[in-house]
Amino acid sequence: MRSSRPLLSVVVPCYNEQQVIAETATQLIALADRLDEVDVELIFVDDGSRDTTCSLLRQIAATEPRVKILSFARNFGHQIAVTAGIDAASGDAVVLIDADLQDPPEVIPAMLAKWREGYDVVYGTRTDREGESVFKRFTAKAFYRLLNRLSDTVIPLDTGDFRLMSRRVVDALRSMPERDRFVRGMVSWVGFRQTALPYRRAERFAGETKYPLRKMIHFAADGLLSFSTKPLQLSIGLGALSSLLAFAGIVYVLGVRLFTDRWVEGWAGLFIAVLFLGGVQLITVGILGEYIGRIYNEVKRRPLYVVGETVGLEPRRD
Ligand code: UDP
Ligand code: MG
Repeated sequence: MRSSRPLLSVVVPCYNEQQVIAETATQLIALADRLDEVDVELIFVDDGSRDTTCSLLRQIAATEPRVKILSFARNFGHQIAVTAGIDAASGDAVVLIDADLQDPPEVIPAMLAKWREGYDVVYGTRTDREGESVFKRFTAKAFYRLLNRLSDTVIPLDTGDFRLMSRRVVDALRSMPERDRFVRGMVSWVGFRQTALPYRRAERFAGETKYPLRKMIHFAADGLLSFSTKPLQLSIGLGALSSLLAFAGIVYVLGVRLFTDRWVEGWAGLFIAVLFLGGVQLITVGILGEYIGRIYNEVKRRPLYVVGETVGLEPRRD
């Protein structure tokens, strides 16, 4: 029986998190016990883990009905796992939180308080990033600056996916069918009243990052390409630049010929010009190709994910 209290869904994407998942579940269940103004469901999305994450979750769910599991047929990636959790959530508010306890569950009550004040999105901003390399901090900063410069949607700096969303934001997200999902950007795009909640990002409780550089680059490309078409205009800029250079070259060559008794000769100039133009053209064709590849992926209209098994949930995507 559902009580009259509002329901909070906590969505936890997990990929090979056997070292932390029991602790995370324990902490979230303890939190759920403490929250007496809301009912809680904990949705663990197992993103095709190849370790014992899923069986650990099953054991926990066997004794704790608030724990629900949605298990993918293979690894579909973090953003898709989050999407599946959002699809499955039936709460009046939904919180996204990482499985590795880098996002401290103790922040959730403060998010709920903001939600009760009337905010639709409460996103955590990181005041401190413990245990993250200088390289990751630097690239993250540079990336968000670039993204905000190129995109019309303002995506707050230093935020991850740790956030609370109201039902109407969740419904808006569910109506966005795109494949290349950059969830934090999509939430910003939706609008409504959004506010930041600073928190200290802890170190990963145990285990290793599931975001190697390759995945991070892909993630950054998704963010950039699905929130901006400005890279397409790069070819115009590059075209203008090379025309200008060519024009300056013509003026120079003519000038030398007309006003001195020398003339410009040599294949070096030719060689450089050919390489320069070739480079410019390949870069712009490559950018075009990135967008076309994404269009191709989009028009195939495959489902975003394949569910292998659920516990306590009906999979739905409507
Ligand atoms: N994750 C996932 N699928 C993936 C990679 C990661 O569901 O393919 C989950 C992972 O289990 C964790 C969250 O996404 O709960 C964030 O991953 P991680 O902590 O490894 O990233 P980092 O904090 O190092 O950026
Ligand atoms: Mg992490």
